[in-house]
Amino acid sequence: MYGYDIFHEKIMMTLINSVRKNTNANTYIFEGAKGLKKHDAALLFAKALVCQDTQNAPCCNCPACSEAQAGSHPDIVFVNPQKDKATIGVEPIRDMITESLVKPFYNRHKVFIINDGDILTPQAQNAFLKIIEEPPAYAVFIIVCTNTNILLETVLSRAVTITFTPISDAEIKSYIEKKYPDESRIDFLVKYSMGIPGYVDTIIEDEEFEAIREEVLNLLPRLLSKNKIHSFDVADYIDEHKDSAAEIYDMMIMYLRDAIVYATGKTDKIINSDKTEKIHLLAANYDTRLLVLAIDELILSKKMLERYVKASATALHAGLKIK
Ligand SMILES: [Zn+2]
Repeated sequence: MYGYDIFHEKIMMTLINSVRKNTNANTYIFEGAKGLKKHDAALLFAKALVCQDTQNAPCCNCPACSEAQAGSHPDIVFVNPQKDKATIGVEPIRDMITESLVKPFYNRHKVFIINDGDILTPQAQNAFLKIIEEPPAYAVFIIVCTNTNILLETVLSRAVTITFTPISDAEIKSYIEKKYPDESRIDFLVKYSMGIPGYVDTIIEDEEFEAIREEVLNLLPRLLSKNKIHSFDVADYIDEHKDSAAEIYDMMIMYLRDAIVYATGKTDKIINSDKTEKIHLLAANYDTRLLVLAIDELILSKKMLERYVKASATALHAGLKIK
């Protein structure tokens, strides 16, 4: 769609129409799971905002559209964390505010995209508040984040929150067929990605993915073990892979779900169809009630991660509860 991988057509058309009618807001929050192509959505919206053909924005023909597509438009500004910093603090936000007071080079709009809204410090948000309370008419701020838990109520109340949700299996299927025409695991990928196109990219492009998938499957007996010591093994593993902890919990949940499905005999409904042998063992060795409990606890661990609880602590919590 207009030069980007965009799946949320309804949302995007609403945003684009607001640009064409000049009714867009000044501050937006694009919220949704990692991998939903929210960054592409922000780029497309920015392209429409800077396009020179207001009636047909984004026209994809004007110099502004070309520069936006190439990532070199001077009125589309990205706000990133400072080097070696795990958060976006006051400084980059103050720089952004100074920059936002300078009128756009070309057009009516100047767009600021804050990509990792999840790591904005409260101080940075308070600084941000000052500009969104009385923004210059031409400025549009977009905070892209996985969830709005971290954002202050005062920021949320001044922004339009757009929530991105997983897309349909049919859309995922056509995405795979278009982007990876040689891929043969289409059914597996559609089931596994759960409506998140970025997952498809990870599975196909990340060389470590298959190895982690196998390790996680081999780790499950320790998660389900009655021996508390084994919970620490799981916590250690999660600690070593803390950046992928949420994805690992998803993997675990899917394996456990598959084991429950296996126990009911509906083997055609298994997502991890290439791992049936070990899934059979899980179904044979553990009571379904324990598997259900494990899923519930892992969902809870995932929620704890979203609240920035230390990854290893979330794993230990699940491990000790599943006893
Ligand atoms: Zn244009």
